[in-house]
Amino acid sequence: MRESDEQYRLLFEGNPVPMWVFDRKTLRFIAVNEAAIRQYGFARQEFLAKTITEIRPEQDIPGLLQDIAKRTLGLEARGIWRHRKKNGELIDVEIVSHPLDFHGVKSMLVAAQDITERKRAEDAVRQAEEKYRGIFEDAVIGIFQATPDGRLTNVNRAHARMHGYESPEEMMAEVSNVARDLSVDPNRMLELAHGVRRNGIVRGAEVEVYRKDGSKKWVRVNLRAIHGADGDVALFDGTVEDITEHKAAQERMKFLAFYDALTELPHRALLQDRLDTALAGARRRGEKVAVLFLDLDRFKAINDSFGHSFGDCVLKEIARRLKECTREHNTVARVGGDEFLILLSNVKDAADAAIAAERVFEAINAGFTVQGRSLSVGCSVGVSIFPEHGADGETLIRNADAAMYSVKDSGRNSVRFFTDEMNAQAVERVTMDKNLRQALERKEFFLVYQPQLDIESGKITGFEALIRWNHPELGLICPDRFISIAENNGLILPIGEWVLRTACSQARRWQDEGLCPVPVAVNVSAVQFRQEAFRDLIRKVLQETGLAPEYLELELTETLLLSNAGVTLSVLQELKKMGLKLSIDDFGTGYSSFSYLRHFCVDKLKIDQTFIQDVVSKRDDAAITIAIISLAKSLHIKVIAEGVENESQMFFLREHRCDQIQGHYFSKPVQADEAAAMLQSEQGFGAAEERRSPRLDAIDGLRCAAGD
Ligand code: C2E
Ligand code: CA
Ligand code: CA
Repeated sequence: MRESDEQYRLLFEGNPVPMWVFDRKTLRFIAVNEAAIRQYGFARQEFLAKTITEIRPEQDIPGLLQDIAKRTLGLEARGIWRHRKKNGELIDVEIVSHPLDFHGVKSMLVAAQDITERKRAEDAVRQAEEKYRGIFEDAVIGIFQATPDGRLTNVNRAHARMHGYESPEEMMAEVSNVARDLSVDPNRMLELAHGVRRNGIVRGAEVEVYRKDGSKKWVRVNLRAIHGADGDVALFDGTVEDITEHKAAQERMKFLAFYDALTELPHRALLQDRLDTALAGARRRGEKVAVLFLDLDRFKAINDSFGHSFGDCVLKEIARRLKECTREHNTVARVGGDEFLILLSNVKDAADAAIAAERVFEAINAGFTVQGRSLSVGCSVGVSIFPEHGADGETLIRNADAAMYSVKDSGRNSVRFFTDEMNAQAVERVTMDKNLRQALERKEFFLVYQPQLDIESGKITGFEALIRWNHPELGLICPDRFISIAENNGLILPIGEWVLRTACSQARRWQDEGLCPVPVAVNVSAVQFRQEAFRDLIRKVLQETGLAPEYLELELTETLLLSNAGVTLSVLQELKKMGLKLSIDDFGTGYSSFSYLRHFCVDKLKIDQTFIQDVVSKRDDAAITIAIISLAKSLHIKVIAEGVENESQMFFLREHRCDQIQGHYFSKPVQADEAAAMLQSEQGFGAAEERRSPRLDAIDGLRCAAGD
């Protein structure tokens, strides 16, 4: 007995696991072993003076008492507890206990293994796991793992969302094979898997994938193989980034290199390329090719009046119509703001091309409704045909351009084929550009004056000054042929200044000669008006010529007024303050919204001659004319009709109470001395017929072919 007692004591004392025995009633320590003394730092006597509650933190004691109260039968693991060492340090211990009858005392044998280190290590592992889990779950890029046979074993939320699934669980349940179910091109995915097997990794592969709803997305994938113990690929893991937008932007860039952003029509370069191809084919097969150059008439006016975004809508609609009315294999290109080139291949003959061109023309001419506004857009179309009008693309385009210009020159809005004569005209434009530069110095310009009449009294109320160019070789040239060239090369500024000075000094001279003083009207180009120094110029010219400001009238077009409404208003107000008269020229052609008229403090509207021409025979023209007259009346401003050529027009205007007329019916534009003579013999309207006498016909040389 004693021997076995001794053995057990040794087993207890020498045990490396800290152990003790305590009295279950008093909770006092009855025995402790060496290991426990080492672990807690209390000497044996100190231990034996304590109860087991004294090695716990205060707050754990209720739990301890409950635990002890439980019935225990044999060896039991009692979980992990916190104990306090002598030095105050808390440790985690794993408790195993066994009830014991210790020399007649009901007691308990306890083994308390310190697991603080182990627990700390476990916590660290758990925290790290949570952290990585968090990174995985909340990552903005998609992360996934898949088996070599294409089954998803793990995906994060971003990945599921990228593919349109509610959760990773849903995605893993519904996708049974990545290559088959997700990849638009399953071979592409297999190719990637192959790459990973070969190199261990694939970086930045761009793959098009399906979403749950069947829509497509572009993603960039990095893929890595995870090898099993046997060396085979056990898993693929990868990251996925959504690059759909990036890809779209890239595609757009590629597109924009060859196509126009607004209309999505090809640029000139692409058309030229296709033209070359078409010409090569046509040459082989002995066919014809047609090139159409189309320019919208007065498109700038639309832009200026309604704003650029409205203009953009019109252009888009035009592009749509052009595409619609040309056959599939033809090319429509946008080559300038309002210029289009159309390539027609497989053209049988000129008549075939003419029909196609006519169709294009009519498509544009058909009325538009854009943003609830109806309007009509005219166009000028020039046509050239291979091989008749050129052997190469460049010549064909140039000649179609020349044909288009010729349409513009003769009143716009029609289709015309290229002729050699046009070539001459194109050359003429270039020469004119050069000649214009010397025209001022060589004093080749002069002014003619067209009287304006009060319709009731028949009295002359003023003159409009109109410029003429006496060209040494080309003869008398009308402003319609050179003003736009001068506007383009900037010469309109010195020319306009010359007109202003000449007209003002002429008006002053008439007054000095004792003639009845009437205003002289001068046409102002938008280019001039836009000049910062325009007002100063007016002031200077009036001062130099000594003309009182009320005898100078400026004719401004609607487009000019609307092109920069903010600035325009202040300039107009200043001109008004100086005492000048202002009128709006070609009124009715500029798509104006009439609301601006109230602000622009003008004195006169000039009804455009295109309305007057058929005012008697066309109901629309009559209606517009009447409307303009009543508009002017309601705003208390004067209204004049331009281009009055016959008596019936005059009667119509008189009947509808138009204030003034200007036109051949009374007089064509005449030289200054003729104008003076008219003023002198001012006898009222009854003299009009007499004035249309041989004297006036003699100066028909001053009429302009284009204008008449
Ligand atoms: P506009 O200002 O509308 O001038 C009226 C045009 O109508 C003039 O043509 C005139 O000769 C013509 N005309 C007058 N009565 C009749 C008629 O009864 N029947 C017909 N068919 N035509 C008539 P013109 O002189 O050839 O001038 C053409 C345009 O050139 C002018 O149109 C004006 O915009 C511009 N222009 C003329 N002189 C100048 C100038 O000094 N400076 C600027 N910037 N532009 C000018
Ligand atoms: Ca005018
Ligand atoms: Ca006019």
